[in-house]
Amino acid sequence: MSELPVALVTGAATGIGAACARRLAADGFRVGVHYRSSAEKAQKLLSELPEAFGLQADLTQEDEIDALIKQVKAEAGRVDVLVNNAGYNVNAPMLTMSLDQYDSVASVARGTWYLSKMVLRRFMFRAGVGRIVNISSVVGHTGNPGQVPYTMVKAGLDAFTKSLSQELVGKDILVNSVAPGFIDTDMTEVLPDDIKETIVARVPQGRMGTADEVADVVAFLSTRATYVNGTVIHVNGGMYGG
Ligand code: NAP
Repeated sequence: MSELPVALVTGAATGIGAACARRLAADGFRVGVHYRSSAEKAQKLLSELPEAFGLQADLTQEDEIDALIKQVKAEAGRVDVLVNNAGYNVNAPMLTMSLDQYDSVASVARGTWYLSKMVLRRFMFRAGVGRIVNISSVVGHTGNPGQVPYTMVKAGLDAFTKSLSQELVGKDILVNSVAPGFIDTDMTEVLPDDIKETIVARVPQGRMGTADEVADVVAFLSTRATYVNGTVIHVNGGMYGG
């Protein structure tokens, strides 16, 4: 088994997750490239990163998370960094949104909680050291119309960061959030051009951010930060003053 430190990145086949996977691999990690449905993109990324390994799981399913943990144990035997990047959004006004749509957003947050618990229990707690980086969002702080469940989840993820960091007393396990603003990925590509223009107008830099700009901060928290804990770092070009 390789001696390299291991970073597990969820939703790593696309967008911000893929940028984090590439960046952490460049920083010397063996990366666990988790994906749910983007198998082809995951395979392409794996072909670029010789030390990396793939992990397929739907994070809304507890048994699939258990199987993922077993696979990581067999494949790598350790997790030094967990980047909770996977997320899901449904855009719809409160009055027309169904309970199933709500659940599709909220159940990914439930999976993030369970995966983090299992990574702590099986790997980090025993080692006494680790880094957990949660990818939240500016809208968890500002709110956003049409995204009530998504903003609840993202605000909750930042609260998760604060509470968990306070629980891990006496350990060198640091838990932080990175809250991106408006980043150019598949998630934002689907937005109509007029909506994109309205959002960009609220960014002092006058442009969307890139996935690499988010990954840079994730890498800092994963590799260099030693006294940053329980906090939220905003990567949004000054959007909403967040
Ligand atoms: P993206 O490309 O759509 O990435 C979302 C990822 O989440 C996908 O890789 C997807 O995996 C994974 N995922 C979704 N549901 C899942 C489930 N049930 N189980 C496992 N994985 C699941 O968009 P992105 O912009 O890079 O988003 C990455 C993170 O950044 C998300 O948490 C998002 O909320 C957050 N964020 C994005 C922006 C932005 O402007 N783009 C702003 C703030 C925050 P598969 O494709 O394999 O299914």
